Amino acid sequence: MGLRKIFTDKDPALHKVCKPVTNFDWRLHKLLDDMKETLENAGGVGLAAPQVGILRRVVIVDNGEEIVELVNPQLVETDGEQEGPEGCLSVPGKYGLVKRPYYAKVKAQDRFGNWFETDGEELTARCFCHELDHLDGIIYTEIMERLLTADELEMEE
Ligand code: ZN
Repeated sequence: MGLRKIFTDKDPALHKVCKPVTNFDWRLHKLLDDMKETLENAGGVGLAAPQVGILRRVVIVDNGEEIVELVNPQLVETDGEQEGPEGCLSVPGKYGLVKRPYYAKVKAQDRFGNWFETDGEELTARCFCHELDHLDGIIYTEIMERLLTADELEMEE
């Protein structure tokens, strides 16, 4: 186990398309364990491998009940729309207004390579979309409507 450094949007790693995972070995398990520890330490709801400098299709998402590990995830179904504030551990101190589906279903492999499906609404759906975007080198600031001001953020709380 170990904390990994979180890269920011100034780093080229955050702007690249990540490669699929092909080896479900101890290296992947260590990466997932480290990402979980790093996410818990940073206090976020999701983390993608490129955020710790690893250009592989791996994300973790806290769905409110548990931390879901998604390897080679694909968005298979979306429904509705939501617009709300979104932040990113790689863009510290900023929040933007981003439109996302209200519901999202993801198909992915677990750390052993078994395919499964998971879904969620509201924050979880937002987080699935946000983290999957990272795997294609997309940061929310590139698709947001605008940045939120400090006053607006206070009103959201
Ligand atoms: Zn992010």
